Amino acid sequence: MVKVVILGSGAAPGVPCLSQGFGACDPNNEKNVRMRAGTYMEISGVRFLIDTSPDLRMQLLKNNIRAVDALFYTHVHADHLHGIDDLRELNRISGKPIDMFASLENMEVIRQRFGYLLADAQSVINPVYRAALMPHAFDYHESFFVGDLDVMPIPLAGHNLPSSGYVFNKGEVVFIADFKDINPTVLGAVKQRPELLIMPLTTPQGTRYHAGFDELMKFATEINPKRLIINHMAVECDYEDIMAACKKANLADTEAVPAYDGLTVEF
Ligand SMILES: [Zn+2]
Ligand SMILES: [Zn+2]
Repeated sequence: MVKVVILGSGAAPGVPCLSQGFGACDPNNEKNVRMRAGTYMEISGVRFLIDTSPDLRMQLLKNNIRAVDALFYTHVHADHLHGIDDLRELNRISGKPIDMFASLENMEVIRQRFGYLLADAQSVINPVYRAALMPHAFDYHESFFVGDLDVMPIPLAGHNLPSSGYVFNKGEVVFIADFKDINPTVLGAVKQRPELLIMPLTTPQGTRYHAGFDELMKFATEINPKRLIINHMAVECDYEDIMAACKKANLADTEAVPAYDGLTVEF
């Protein structure tokens, strides 16, 4: 069984944002109210988070999440990382550290910024004062298991920081984080007709460091998932507009939808 909950469907400023309010988004549609990046999944009996945004506390409260077995980071932009300290509440409940996975280069930055949160085998866990995260740095050449969950991390290209995506259970679920491009070798490894593909949009036109809607559709066509969820949307992305664009894109065998906070998919 797979369960996926989109905890936060927004880009870095959230929606509404301080400078532009709701921007192009209809303020009367509550699906346009977006917290920053966060995803919860249960696959093969493993409960895990992808990224910890500054909104993590509210995300865990709202979705009644009190335990996770693992945590995967995509990159070290603040909207994906800086809620990390909230994890100590989960440590407090479980009394145990959480296994945390990131690329070698991302782990190095996490260690510099939040070294006080990292545990080692000798650590005395005291979650009253700090979170306890057991670091596992990976390189991109091999898949690994967390419990029964098969994890293959993939490098994404063109973002302004190194960014990782994740292929779970040999392509059953594919998670793409902030990116502009996916190199052909990596793309080859994800083309397995996933049950679910999650990709970030940010703005419909794209930016120097983020793929736009047409680029997403190009990758979605190649990856050919059964379902596509479009995530990580800024104030330029009205929910109904993106829904209409998905219908217009008319992907042959893919049901494509924009995300909203709390969107839950089970199969
Ligand atoms: Zn982001
Ligand atoms: Zn980013």
